[in-house]
Amino acid sequence: MIKLEPATMTKAIERAKAIRPRVRVIDADARIYSVTGSRGDAYTVRFAVANGLKLAECDCRAGKAGMMCFHVAAAAQVNVMTQSMLRQTASAPVAPLAPRIVRRIERGHNGAKIVAVYCDGWAI
Ligand SMILES: [Zn+2]
Repeated sequence: MIKLEPATMTKAIERAKAIRPRVRVIDADARIYSVTGSRGDAYTVRFAVANGLKLAECDCRAGKAGMMCFHVAAAAQVNVMTQSMLRQTASAPVAPLAPRIVRRIERGHNGAKIVAVYCDGWAI
């Protein structure tokens, strides 16, 4: 397992930004991701929390040696987004959003000022 620490992650994040690997969500609840490497090879990254420590696991050579790799860094960013989306979905209100009414002054075809009213982007 690799400990997720800002100090060790900075370089890996830089590499991930340069290489831009593709990250696929395999199981959002179990936090398992598939990251495509620089040569099109895919590695599996898993995240876990143990004793308050954020841990990651990658099945590439560096990851197996317990080193931080850019697969973990790339998947970590997707993991943060995915987990916050899961929380939002769980706590999302059931009621639909209220329609958005927008009034604005526009010029009519004859140059006269008119008040246009939009509801959710539709002129009414
Ligand atoms: Zn890796």
